Formats: sequence, C-alpha cells, structure tokens
Amino acid sequence: MRREVLAAVIAQVARVMIAHADELTELDRAIGDGDHGTNVRRGFEAVLRQIQDWRDLPPPEAIEAVGRTLVMTVGGAFGPLVGTALMTLGRSLPSEPSRADLAVAVMVAIKAVKARGRSDVGHKTLIDVLEPVCKALAEGADASAVKSLATSAADCTVAMQALRGRAAFLGEGSIGHMDPGARSTSLMIAAAVDALDVAGPERGMTTAPVS
Ligand code: ADP
Ligand code: MG
Repeated sequence: MRREVLAAVIAQVARVMIAHADELTELDRAIGDGDHGTNVRRGFEAVLRQIQDWRDLPPPEAIEAVGRTLVMTVGGAFGPLVGTALMTLGRSLPSEPSRADLAVAVMVAIKAVKARGRSDVGHKTLIDVLEPVCKALAEGADASAVKSLATSAADCTVAMQALRGRAAFLGEGSIGHMDPGARSTSLMIAAAVDALDVAGPERGMTTAPVS
C-alpha cells in the first residue's frame, strides 16, 4: 500500500470517528458511563495532529504508530483494546502486504485483543464486529460486503447481553442497546473501506480473493 493512500485512510477514519463522537457517547450513556465518544474524539484528534509525523514511515510502522497514539490518548477500556489491535496489526504486516497477509495479520490482531480483554465473540464488545469482518476478508468478500457486514455485526450486538466491560454490570439490562465499542469499530472499518475505494489503485487489497 502506498504511504499517501494509508495517510488518506487514517485521516478519513479519524474524521468519521470525530464526526460520530456524540452518537458514540449516547450509546455509552445507555449502558456505560457516557465517555466513549469523548474518548474516541480525543484519540482521533491526536491522530490528526500527528499524521504528518508518520508520513515517511513504512505503512506497517505507521499503523503501529496510530495504535500507540490511541493507547496513549483514548483511555477507558477501549483505548488499550483498539490500540492493541492496530499495534499488533502493524507489527504483523510485511512491508508489501498481499490480501492474504492482511487477513492473517488481522487474525493475529484479534487474538491479541481477545487476550487483552479476556473477551470473545458473543460478549457484546468490539470483537463481535472484528471477528466476522476478519472472516469475510479471509473469504474474499468485496468492499461493500465488508462494509455492510461491519454495520450489521454492530446491529447484532443490540440483542446481546454484555459479558465484558461496564455494560456487563447491567446484566440483562444491557440487552436492547448497541455496544458503543462495536459501533465505533464498524464506523472505523466502513471509513477505511470507503477511503480505500476512493484510492482506486489499492482496490486489490479489499476485493481480490485470498490465494
Ligand atoms: P470504558 O468502558 O472504560 O468507559 P469506553 O466507554 O471508551 O471505555 O469503551 C467501552 C467499549 O469497550 C465497550 O463498548 C466494549 O466494546 C469495549 N470493551 C470494554 N471492555 C472490554 C473487554 N474486556 N473486552 C473487549 N472489549 C471491551
Ligand atoms: Mg465508557
């Protein structure tokens, strides 16, 4: 992936997350402590401030740097988890990743997030978006399929009972509300796919089947 394409993807993800901060805070107000949007906004504002510093880094190192910044700035439960995902992704990617490399690296990143949060599919967290999207990527889903899957996976958390994070304290009271971290993750994935789609020449990264 070209460095300027990655910079455009990072900037687009950051702008989308900042634009949705109020919605994310509302979701967290229902089943958490109402800080998720504020946390995410703070993190992605820091990313936008630093983006120029990462301009000359190889893409895997730039992804790792974004993860480090998010760990340091987002806070709460989500910051270390999303940061772990990106730092592990960056460290697991070769400098010229194929789509197959990407699918493997995403899988390694999800494993790291699960270990860090002691969480798994069905616990009503960001894992409930990350895991199905990762599987779809590995199976060769195209950009629009990945995007709609991310959205529907976040929607699926509405019916779940939270077993991790603050929402778990509500027990059955957490049912009927979308998990804020799952929604954030679906927004990040959709924004990244959109930015890659606009980049055109990088489309192979999101549409070619894994060989
Ligand atoms: P906090 O809960 O500390 O206020 P945030 O509100 O920023 O942090 O983030 C909450 C989100 O973090 C949840 O919606 C959920 O997706 C995710 N989360 C919380 N705890 C865990 C965990 N143990 N494993 C995976 N994800 C988690
Ligand atoms: Mg919160």
